[in-house]
Formats: sequence, structure tokens, C-alpha cells
Amino acid sequence: MNLVLFGPPGAGKGTQAKILQEEWRLPQLSTGDMLRAAIAAGTELGKKSKAIMDRGDLVPDDVVVGIIGERLDKPDCAKGAVFDGFPRTIPQAEALDKMLSSRSDRIDAVIELKVDDDAMVGRMENRVKENPASARPDDNPVTLKNRLGVYHKNTAPLLDFYRRQGKLRVVDGMAPIPQVAAAIRGILTGLAAGKGR
Ligand code: ADP
Repeated sequence: MNLVLFGPPGAGKGTQAKILQEEWRLPQLSTGDMLRAAIAAGTELGKKSKAIMDRGDLVPDDVVVGIIGERLDKPDCAKGAVFDGFPRTIPQAEALDKMLSSRSDRIDAVIELKVDDDAMVGRMENRVKENPASARPDDNPVTLKNRLGVYHKNTAPLLDFYRRQGKLRVVDGMAPIPQVAAAIRGILTGLAAGKGR
């Protein structure tokens, strides 16, 4: 089962991806986490990405497509994965379709966590307040505003791309975490039943 979690920064993709990883044993493939790991490790890729990420802009498509391609070859992805923060552009989505179909696989569903932009600033501020040690350099109001702008300009068009493929499912991302998780669980249970037939 391959799932894409979709939504603006702060929508709760990472939180839900971790729950899915626990419940369905599907690895969470977060390009944001992978890029931050590359920065922490001081690799060439990390050095190239840091300034872009600190501004809240998008890292080039070929870079993220490359890291996802390598990751998909690891054995834990054999039964599928949860994509978190990828794809973020139409070329990334097309590349993902290609990578999966070359592995005789496909995306089963794209789950949009629907939220209000205005609430995302508050969520970020809370996240920073509750856990200042893990605050990211791009978690500040100016950069978040840019990240939201980039989301609407480059990433939101993917909703139509997946709607046309009949894969888009929408969940209320403003609901409490367990309720969002339950809604996603319902979708996956339906998909798993369909696959078993
Ligand atoms: P959020 O969803 O809160 O914006 P992420 O951890 O997913 O956070 O991403 C952080 C940053 O990493 C993005 O602002 C961008 O610079 C970079 N990034 C992550 N994923 C991608 C991607 N698929 N394409 C391009 N850049 C990406």
C-alpha cells in the first residue's frame, strides 16, 4: 500500500505518518526529514539544501526525486510506504508514478488533510513553545508565510492531478489527532478490503 499524505505545512502530515507507521508497518518517507538528516550529516546535498530550506523554498525536483528513488529500493519499502511532504510539484508526482510503476506498484490513495491556513501559524507557535529544543530554522512566522505561499502555488495544483486519477480522499485536518487518525484508518481499511478481493 502506497499512500501520500497531503496538506500545507503544519497540517499534521508527520504526526499521522508516524501513527500509520505504527499501525500498518508502512515506513514514513519524509523528504523534509531526509533533507534535515543530510544537513545534520554535513553532506554535499545537505549543504546545497540548507539555504533553500531556511527560506522556505523548494529544493530542486531532481534532488528530492533522487533521494526518494534510493529510499524506495530499501527492503522495508517492499510492501509500500507513506509519503510525507513528497511529491510537492507536478514533476515530482510524475516521477513518483514512474518510479512506482517501474516497480510494478502504484499509489493507492492521496489523503488531503484539509486545514485553515490561519490556524497553521498558531500550531507552529505552539510547537515551538512546547518543544523549543526541536524548533526548526524554518519555523518562524516570515518563513512559514513563504512555505504556505509555496504550498498554494506549487503543491496545491497536485490536488487536481490526483482528483483526476480518482485517488484523492479528503479528511478534516482541524479535528483532534485521534479523530484524524480514525478517519484515515477508515479509508485504509476500505482500501485493504478492496485489495484483498
Ligand atoms: P513542512 O511540511 O512543515 O513544510 P517539511 O519537513 O515537509 O515541512 O519540509 C521542510 C522543507 O524541506 C521545505 O520547506 C522544502 O524546503 C524542503 N522539502 C521537503 N520536501 C520537499 C520536496 N518534496 N520538494 C522540494 N523541497 C522539499
